[in-house]
Amino acid sequence: MLIAAWTAFLFLMLFLLGSVVGSFLNVCIVRLPQGRSLIRPGSHCEHCRKPIRMEDNLPLVSYWLLRGRCRACGAPFSIRYFWVELLTGMELDAEGAIHDLTPDALQERRQRLRQLGGPPDASKL
Ligand SMILES: [Zn+2]
Repeated sequence: MLIAAWTAFLFLMLFLLGSVVGSFLNVCIVRLPQGRSLIRPGSHCEHCRKPIRMEDNLPLVSYWLLRGRCRACGAPFSIRYFWVELLTGMELDAEGAIHDLTPDALQERRQRLRQLGGPPDASKL
């Protein structure tokens, strides 16, 4: 039961991390082809140019709560923002499953490594 809860927590964290990465990828998708900075200005509505508040900038959640629209002017955001965040979150979960990042598998790898004499000593390299 505890292992299942940790595994679910791990995959939830991977999904959240993936959706944050997806949010950044959306910034790259919009700004890099235009030669714009990835840092400044911060997230803003492309229609009214008003900054997007932190609570309106949560991957997936904010898109869903605001129904894909700018809080300030009501202009629609591209559905691409939602899909890139969702698919990147799912991608990290898939990577976790492919590489078997469950606590059982990690424990098994740790034991196998101990049987082989432990990790290589970096100071001798
Ligand atoms: Zn707006």
